[in-house]
Amino acid sequence: MIKKEPWREFDRLYTLYTLEAGKIQALAKGSRRSLSRMAAHLEPFLITDVMIARGRQIDRLAGSDEVINYKNLDQSIEKVALLSYCLEILDKLTSYGQADKKIFNLVKDLLEVADENHLSYERTLLLSRIFVLKLMTYLGYEPEVHECLECKRKVGEEGLYFNSARGGIVCSECVQNSGNQVLGQMAVTAPVLRALRNCHETSFRGFLEIYIMPETVKPLEILIDDFLKYHLDGDIRSEKYFYQVFA
Ligand SMILES: [Zn+2]
Repeated sequence: MIKKEPWREFDRLYTLYTLEAGKIQALAKGSRRSLSRMAAHLEPFLITDVMIARGRQIDRLAGSDEVINYKNLDQSIEKVALLSYCLEILDKLTSYGQADKKIFNLVKDLLEVADENHLSYERTLLLSRIFVLKLMTYLGYEPEVHECLECKRKVGEEGLYFNSARGGIVCSECVQNSGNQVLGQMAVTAPVLRALRNCHETSFRGFLEIYIMPETVKPLEILIDDFLKYHLDGDIRSEKYFYQVFA
């Protein structure tokens, strides 16, 4: 479940990410009036089997069955903050009705990893940004992290820039040739590039094995956020909460 909103007096409009139909919206009749069984199955940290009745204007939830309940998640405000952030990004970047098994499994993995592990601040931050990188890759915004976007040459680790608009690295020669037009491009240090490659190439679950120097986490976060925000409209509402929780 991505989010729920009140609808008329007694109903609720749910936004769900489903395996078979991607992101959908469906109305649950009367779910605010009573603590119906269905409402209990439609909490954020559950995987639920839902039956949808197609409506003329809006689809309706016709039935639900809880499949997996990640019980540890709502016990920790840090984990709630992490998941609120990731689910908001999922909502903002995806369109309705486009099924994608890889994205469904990415969200499922996120819930599992967060449920099973103790997460420090650095780990939580890293997990959220790896989620963003993987999600953007699946949506067709895969960043180029080995070749210069301009001259297509394989690059080393030194003297590089990251271009968020085009999603990838540019070598210093190409930056110089373009008259140092570094607008929208930021310098990337070797450890940050190494960390970015690692996050991009490691499986989502494999992130626990990655070691990233604490001083690299912040610049990596700035780079991924800049890349993300280039593709997002408006603010990320849960971002503030995310930082408040860890302050
Ligand atoms: Zn180049």
